[in-house]
Amino acid sequence: MKIFCVANQKGGVGKTTTTVNLAAGLAKVGQRVLMVDLDPQGNATMGSGIDKRTLALSVYDVLLESASISEARVRAERLAESGCAYDVLGASRELSGAEVELVGLERRDQRLKAALATVKAEYDVVLIDCPPSLSLLTLNGLCSAHGVVVPMQCEYFALEGLTDLVNTIKQVHANLNKDLQIIGLLRVMFDPRITLQQQVSDQLKAHFADKVFNTVIPRNVRLAEAPSYGLPGVVFDPSAKGSLAFVEFAQEMVARVRSM
Ligand code: ADP
Ligand code: MG
Repeated sequence: MKIFCVANQKGGVGKTTTTVNLAAGLAKVGQRVLMVDLDPQGNATMGSGIDKRTLALSVYDVLLESASISEARVRAERLAESGCAYDVLGASRELSGAEVELVGLERRDQRLKAALATVKAEYDVVLIDCPPSLSLLTLNGLCSAHGVVVPMQCEYFALEGLTDLVNTIKQVHANLNKDLQIIGLLRVMFDPRITLQQQVSDQLKAHFADKVFNTVIPRNVRLAEAPSYGLPGVVFDPSAKGSLAFVEFAQEMVARVRSM
């Protein structure tokens, strides 16, 4: 079982879109997938067709050790028809309080890691959707993971923000989790007609070389519409350009994981 965080401390850069579409894409190519929603906004939960308001148990209970993952996970049944179903350890509103509640507890950054160890035999891939911060929740994700997938828009300030994230990942690698590595940078919401995006994309490749995924996710309105139907884009409209790109990305991920 390989565990990946989808992280970037900026909001609105495409983390959740990447998480749910990659989860569905990986399920489609036969992987057993668990998606963990670590963002109190619960967008990845809702975007998988699970109503965060009616969840009996969530990742909050798992972090506070009042439930196990096998008790708290639910199946994204609505995706089953298209062969893209995965399990969801969902987030609800109360997760926003977890940060404060965890601070005083022991092993506060290792809670998710310990919980995931109990379902090790049941999944090929775990994908963790991180909140837009370098908080204790994100730290739980980074301490659990083998790698980080970083979605980013090719905009001027994107590179600057990347430095903070790379430093955090280095710190976690040095002090808390020696398995952690950057799997790759994923260019999302890409529009090749915009010269600046091409330039930033070229800079990324110059700096990070093969850490930049080959697959590029285009800006595609179908991907933005899908969450309001409670579906990942790859299920909502499998033939949309963005959906095809995410399935291609899932295949690229499988190849990378195999070589890890
Ligand atoms: P984050 O989780 O980093 O905050 P989201 O995945 O929620 O980011 O994406 C932010 C917004 O951009 C959402 O409204 C989403 O639907 C939209 N979006 C994400 N990726 C794309 C894309 N490739 N094309 C068009 N819209 C996108
Ligand atoms: Mg999000």
